[in-house]
Amino acid sequence: MVLSQGFQIKDGELQKPENGEIKLTVPTGLIPYCPHCGKPMSMNLRSDQTFVEDDGWHQAAERYEKFIQDHKKQKIVFLELGVGYNTPGIIKYPFWQMTNSFQHAFYVCLNQREAYVPEEIRRKSVCMNEDIGEVLKEL
Ligand SMILES: [Zn+2]
Repeated sequence: MVLSQGFQIKDGELQKPENGEIKLTVPTGLIPYCPHCGKPMSMNLRSDQTFVEDDGWHQAAERYEKFIQDHKKQKIVFLELGVGYNTPGIIKYPFWQMTNSFQHAFYVCLNQREAYVPEEIRRKSVCMNEDIGEVLKEL
């Protein structure tokens, strides 16, 4: 699918299309279908009633909550990579709230177009309005 967009993979790295044009369509033959019902696969997003919260999801949510509770008094970094505003109540707002309420928490936001931090936690934050791939190369 990535290659059909015009990208190339060179030396294990994804390269943007040489002509700069990303096709933004996927050939029908590359769409995966569910082996049970035959419907096209889709991402598990909180966009409608199809979001899956099964036993595995709930167990993971409990592990995450326990990790947060066990570490909230320690130095903790909330690293947000490319999180937008589709469902800010899932990642972004909790990260802001925990950064604000946990004494040693720090918030890092990398987002090419939507890097933002509220005034309340600005002194405990770094925001980069940059391409994540370019920033990670600079580390
Ligand atoms: Zn199905």
